Amino acid sequence: MDWKESFLDRKEHIFDTDQVEMRKYNARDCTALIDIYENMMVDIKLSKLEPIVELEHKLIPPIAIMKERGISKDLSKLKTWQAWITKELNQSESTLRKDYNLPAEFNFNSQDHMNWILYGFQTPGLKKKMKELKSYETEEQSVQYECRECLSKKSFKYPSLGLVPATTEAKCSKCRQNMPFFRTSLDPKPVKARSRETKKYKELESSAALFECVPFAKPSAFRPARTSSGKYGTGREDISRFENAVLARQRQLDDQKRPSPDEITGLERTSDFLGRFTELTKFSKLKTSFFDLPVGKDGRIHPTVLIQGTATGRFSCINPNAQWALLNPVNSGKAEMPILSQAA
Ligand SMILES: [Zn+2]
Repeated sequence: MDWKESFLDRKEHIFDTDQVEMRKYNARDCTALIDIYENMMVDIKLSKLEPIVELEHKLIPPIAIMKERGISKDLSKLKTWQAWITKELNQSESTLRKDYNLPAEFNFNSQDHMNWILYGFQTPGLKKKMKELKSYETEEQSVQYECRECLSKKSFKYPSLGLVPATTEAKCSKCRQNMPFFRTSLDPKPVKARSRETKKYKELESSAALFECVPFAKPSAFRPARTSSGKYGTGREDISRFENAVLARQRQLDDQKRPSPDEITGLERTSDFLGRFTELTKFSKLKTSFFDLPVGKDGRIHPTVLIQGTATGRFSCINPNAQWALLNPVNSGKAEMPILSQAA
């Protein structure tokens, strides 16, 4: 666990933490600030931001008090709330699964799985799994080769019935670079097919079940955004872009004289799923944000209040975002939020 993670999970104040690294980073930030403070103030004066900085300085003591006192937590409300979220989440998940024939293995939180049903895209991770699954089916043979330079031996696997090349190129562990390897006179050895009675195989098999579901229809003009990991985005914004693209195409179809009935039903199905999936993610978000509330040694919750968190100047708070919980429409009338702003 690196220091950032430990920071997010912390259940104590920075002052009484026994995490040496966190203290070190904190001290480093303070030292850095002292060094740049003078020049920074010159810049602030030049950009006429001085009144704002003065105001913020005045806000530090009350905010420190708010942080120190924290918010009380009502355990019985918390239990009711958690039970309610869990019930809603399970219900939405199971009806979605049923209505769209998604296999039990389908995981709504998996970006790989969502990439397949939303975009028909096999992520590199899923591809690798499918390749591995195939390796259980094919009988292989192990063939010995040797490095042309240092003559060190290395074996490669080939399908039993496939061609075996006389030379190949591979990284030689002794020469430490790619080298030509030549087949030795040793006969290839058959490699027994891997046992399917393993947990690993069962897991791979259940991943394969995913490909039995047909991906949702999407407008041909729609291009989902790619993330840095080579997958397509499945976040709130991605889903809403997808919804808009479906809507735009539906409007086009409305104007057509003889639109394809298949396309109409396909898009209706997509649109319905996307709407319900968005609802589902709201509950997932509630669950991840509020099930494991970071509680201090005093049994109270100490959210961090941000002065500059919003464009309008409203205070905001994180870890947890107690304001969001109070305002969230999902909360209204169904179950009472277990933490309330009684900064007593
Ligand atoms: Zn070598």
